Amino acid sequence: MGIDLEYNRNKDSKLSLVIPVYQEGSHIRSSIAKIENVLVSNKIRYGFILVDDGSRDNTWSELKDMARQNNNITALRLSRNFGKESAICAGLDYADGDMVIVMDADLQHPPELIPEMVKAWRDEGYDVVEGIKKSRGRENPFYRFCAKFFYYIIYKTADIDLGQASDFKLMDRRVVEAWKELPERATFFRGMSAWLGYDRKQIPFDVAERVNGKSKWSLIRLIRLAVNAITSYTSVPLHCITVLGMLMFVGAIILGIQTLYMKFSGRALSGFTTVILLLLIIGSSLMISLGMIGIYLSKIYKEVKHRPRYLVAKSINADDGRSGKQEAL
Ligand code: UDP
Ligand code: MG
Repeated sequence: MGIDLEYNRNKDSKLSLVIPVYQEGSHIRSSIAKIENVLVSNKIRYGFILVDDGSRDNTWSELKDMARQNNNITALRLSRNFGKESAICAGLDYADGDMVIVMDADLQHPPELIPEMVKAWRDEGYDVVEGIKKSRGRENPFYRFCAKFFYYIIYKTADIDLGQASDFKLMDRRVVEAWKELPERATFFRGMSAWLGYDRKQIPFDVAERVNGKSKWSLIRLIRLAVNAITSYTSVPLHCITVLGMLMFVGAIILGIQTLYMKFSGRALSGFTTVILLLLIIGSSLMISLGMIGIYLSKIYKEVKHRPRYLVAKSINADDGRSGKQEAL
């Protein structure tokens, strides 16, 4: 029968909560207690996977304590600070629930939304339930501008609209398994889950104020994340070089004609014509050839990532040795 991909969606289904935690020692206990309260009062079966992303404060001792006192809590500690993306990956690898929610440790993702997300998964059959930022919370205007610009680029080049996307998501087990199949090392959770597809529902929420401490994203880290995200989803920057080269080539022809005209009409300074022509020709051919290399490079890059060619969300009576009997939802 193979692996039964259709997981049970009922009152007994287990929810795994993956929470990356970095330098949140002062409030992690109360944050988790608050989330746990919501789960208990809504009778959701749950397990926490708290991933300490190499914090240097008392986060780990807190997590250790919490995991010892509470069987529903699994604590992991990464060997150093790998960044939120890697922490999420680690958490997803250890999550065993029928559905998984990824959320922040600073209560900026309102736990009150969890029952609604679970309901959309259980009763309405959605595979992915995404929290969508209604407002971005209080933020420095410069950061807001950078974020807008970044999402605009991603949207224009990769056709993925992440403008209001957040990392606050519920995913069905199948989606998590599909995510784990993506073999690339550098991940961008928000974008990758959009790439995966599946039946999705969006639930808007207001980003709350951070409970304590401050955001861990310095400008440099944000830029690094943005560059990583853009280069993961599009090879447009590489093609820009080709286009630039072509434009330069056209310019070169026009300028070349003008230079030659000046030369033959005797108005050019001696020697200048050669220099101008050489510059134009070398410049444009360099750019075009760089662009060509870029195109091959982007192909290689895509291949190296080794992403699956497609993902099957549902199938009926298909016997490919992997899917069991499944019903269309
Ligand atoms: N985080 C992490 N590793 C890092 C930075 C952040 O695991 O290197 C976690 C952090 O503990 C929090 C979440 O990622 O749970 C979001 O971080 P933060 O609140 O600093 O970011 P913001 O809300 O400003 O986007
Ligand atoms: Mg935050």
